Amino acid sequence: MTFHRVEDLHRALDSGQTTCVQLVQESLRKARAENPSINAVAEFFEGSAMQQAVAVDARRAQGDCRALDGVTMVIKDNMVYRDHAAGAGSKILTGFISPYTATAVQRIVDAGACIVGRSSCDEFAMGSSNETSVYGPVRNPLDLKRTPGGSSGGSAAAVAAGWVHASLGSDTGGSIRQPASFCGIFGAKPTYGRVSRYGLIAYASSFDQIGPLARSASDLARITEVISGADQYDGTCSDRLVPSMSVKSCDPQSLSFGYYQEVLDNPALDSELRDAFMARMDQLRAKGHRVEALRFDYLDLLVPIYYILTTAEASANLARFDGVRYGYRAEGVKTLDELYKRSRSEGFGKEVKRRILLGTFVLRSGYFDAYYGKAQKARRAVQNATNADLAKVDLLISPTSPHTAFELGREASDPTLMYLEDIFTVQAPIAGLPALSLPMGLHSNGMPMGLHLTAKAFDEPTLFTAAEYLSS
Ligand code: GLN
Repeated sequence: MTFHRVEDLHRALDSGQTTCVQLVQESLRKARAENPSINAVAEFFEGSAMQQAVAVDARRAQGDCRALDGVTMVIKDNMVYRDHAAGAGSKILTGFISPYTATAVQRIVDAGACIVGRSSCDEFAMGSSNETSVYGPVRNPLDLKRTPGGSSGGSAAAVAAGWVHASLGSDTGGSIRQPASFCGIFGAKPTYGRVSRYGLIAYASSFDQIGPLARSASDLARITEVISGADQYDGTCSDRLVPSMSVKSCDPQSLSFGYYQEVLDNPALDSELRDAFMARMDQLRAKGHRVEALRFDYLDLLVPIYYILTTAEASANLARFDGVRYGYRAEGVKTLDELYKRSRSEGFGKEVKRRILLGTFVLRSGYFDAYYGKAQKARRAVQNATNADLAKVDLLISPTSPHTAFELGREASDPTLMYLEDIFTVQAPIAGLPALSLPMGLHSNGMPMGLHLTAKAFDEPTLFTAAEYLSS
């Protein structure tokens, strides 16, 4: 049974049409049968998922019903879950079993979700195509020759294939929103600080956020509300009260939108995607919305800012994987230095090494001001410009990605081509703002196109209301 919204699933539970146990069994059956061709799930958590389902059915029978009861989910392989393996798609975490649970994961479990497995991702969430995981590439369920996007491609593919109701992904520069758009589903990155990062294996700590992927805007809102809010284990997590994120929190008719002419003039943008986007803008105007073309002077700076700052942060975050504390350890070494060197050389993949080297380079004394310092200043300029634009309109709107899902293997050989994939999605995390992708119809090549929205900091209610309105 596939439900588009949790409300529908809960009605089916209330009427006795199904149970959580049945939902989990169906989910596991379908996912296990189809995973050999799609490869979205790195490991199934059958035992704990069934235990959760039994417990949720029993609790509901006592009249205690919660927001995510019976919602089957996968969690990205970079979030930890007590007594379960977490690998971040890397050989270096081989054999690692977590002694604790990430806050966001604990919150979905407490709200009644049943976690059926961990979903494959690019190694340490670095990538846009899900080709760098130690578990092999993930395939797009809509066309097995194509990528599901990355780095939360497994989380997107599992939802799009109908195996699970929803999933958790993480987004540093677009890793929830781009795979959502490539797979024809919904995916949101909350405001930086809205959701605790405790238990998320860090890539770039001043960008990373956990968020949901689902088949409707209302489910994004529901899951985000569950995982949001202060956490004593993450000092960067905001203690602002979490508002109701219900999709009816404002009058959608009054919403105004701004798009950047520079985005539409960008040569990387597929012409059919551009036309579909402009047709959407015309429809919005015809419905009486204010839709403004804005100017953005920093488009070409976004990808360089992002890759300088995130690689710098990654080089520090990944220093902890040294062959001593977690996972993989090289054999037959004689000295401690050799242990570090060989464990890291053998344990990390090529893309991760490239980023550690780049990050170490931009932080080197003598280069620090020229790269890292400058990128920090440019980040501030982008934040200010973006916030100024969001004072003029309620939401920024654009295509999510310059094109639809590309074929596996196409860009793997050229890292800079792959980095340009992020051109439309990195502005929101550079500015710390909430953003999401929703489906915008099909391209003539048969693949889904995505529409991207960015809202003011901590204004998830408007973001989800607008997404619900634009998808209905
Ligand atoms: N594609 C981007 C990168 O490789 C985004 C990854 C992410 O958001 N985790 O860094």
